[in-house]
Amino acid sequence: MDRQQEFVLRTIEERDIRFVRLWFTDVLGTLKSVAIAPAELEGAFAEGIGFDGSVIEGFARVFESDMLAKPDPATFQVLPWRGEAPGTARMFCDIMLPDGTPSIADPRNVLKRALAKCADMGYTFYIHPEIEFFLLKQGWKPGERPEPIDQAGYFDHVPKGMAHDFRRAAIQMLEAIGISVEFSHHEGAPGQNEIDLRYADALTTSDNIMTFRTVVKEVALERDIYATFMPKVFAEHPGSGMHTHMSLFQGDANAFFEAGAPYQLSTVARQFIAGILRHGAEITAVTNQWVNSYKRIWGGGEAPAHITWGHNNTSAMVRVPMYKPLKGQSSRVEVRTIDAACNPYLAYAVTLAAGLKGIEEGYELPPETEDDVWSLTRNERRALGIEPLPSSLSEAITAMERSELVAETLGEHVFDFFLRNKRREWEDYRHQVTAFELERLLPRL
Ligand code: GLN
Ligand code: MG
Ligand code: MG
Ligand code: MG
Repeated sequence: MDRQQEFVLRTIEERDIRFVRLWFTDVLGTLKSVAIAPAELEGAFAEGIGFDGSVIEGFARVFESDMLAKPDPATFQVLPWRGEAPGTARMFCDIMLPDGTPSIADPRNVLKRALAKCADMGYTFYIHPEIEFFLLKQGWKPGERPEPIDQAGYFDHVPKGMAHDFRRAAIQMLEAIGISVEFSHHEGAPGQNEIDLRYADALTTSDNIMTFRTVVKEVALERDIYATFMPKVFAEHPGSGMHTHMSLFQGDANAFFEAGAPYQLSTVARQFIAGILRHGAEITAVTNQWVNSYKRIWGGGEAPAHITWGHNNTSAMVRVPMYKPLKGQSSRVEVRTIDAACNPYLAYAVTLAAGLKGIEEGYELPPETEDDVWSLTRNERRALGIEPLPSSLSEAITAMERSELVAETLGEHVFDFFLRNKRREWEDYRHQVTAFELERLLPRL
């Protein structure tokens, strides 16, 4: 047993923890949890806890359904929301096959593989997300319009506001569970809020995002409201994204920084952006995985819809933030496509892989787009070589199907499962006769 594992066992003893939740994530980004008694933990560290993988989305075909969840002691946290006694704690798990090899279906493992490649190239990948979500009144029923909890807007301070109290409670709980918050505010739409996490390595951040979604939903339930990360809830209001700031470090030095270069961006940073743009269409099915995600991308409200970059351009897929004269360590790029309903492990794995490909192949960065892309005509955009992002899940799937980069990064099993699942989602959607069609066409045709 190593020191981290010993620390976990000691803490459980000292804090009178009676339940240990083992957390992992299915391919579509849903958190899964199995509770064990502390007495089982030594065995879990040594061999893992067996479960039937065939019931988890994307995990196994029935004939190879036995899987093991092996807790990662570095992720141990006491959960603050189940009251004091008896205490509950959680750890994220790596998923193993019975022979002890890592499961190829485990999203955490997909990201670990991408990070290992990054480390081989000499870099550490740091990220921080800006997570947007809506707070709605409870009790929505199909056919009804969801009701936001307030009518406030961007940065509004609402005296005695529910949203304000909510954010404070959520942040306290996040801090109690070891997740640092940088920034939080009301967002542009009624009921919409944003909480930005402090930067960390990509694996920790992905674990933190999974925890964040659970905490936010939990704190909302306590207040009898409903929190949602659905990308586009209201057609006439902005959707919810998860803009993510990214940088590569070499030891203690930010590899994206070069004093005196345009925007202080190093060649490595320029190639990284170029990689994300060149592979932008291919990775979008993973970063924006739902039919509804494309309603956000194409619905305005400062969501990016074009494969382009700029230094202060909210219509661009990649933005180079210039809040202050960039000090060396804070050089970074902001990827604005990703939404908060993605599987973070997979979304960051493919985005990183695209950026690294740009570095490996020495891609040339196209010129930046200074204008709001929306103010240009279609022809002007074409003349500038600005391509649109996929317009629907269907287009995104088609681009992904042809992608060697995504196939290699996800591995064949996750790649195939994901495409099959998403094609089915698209087909289910395409079968619908919508209220829009009935209202438009029935009176005329
Ligand atoms: N909500 C917008 C989006 O969907 C972003 C708004 C903002 O943070 N500037 O990406
Ligand atoms: Mg923000
Ligand atoms: Mg925002
Ligand atoms: Mg942003």
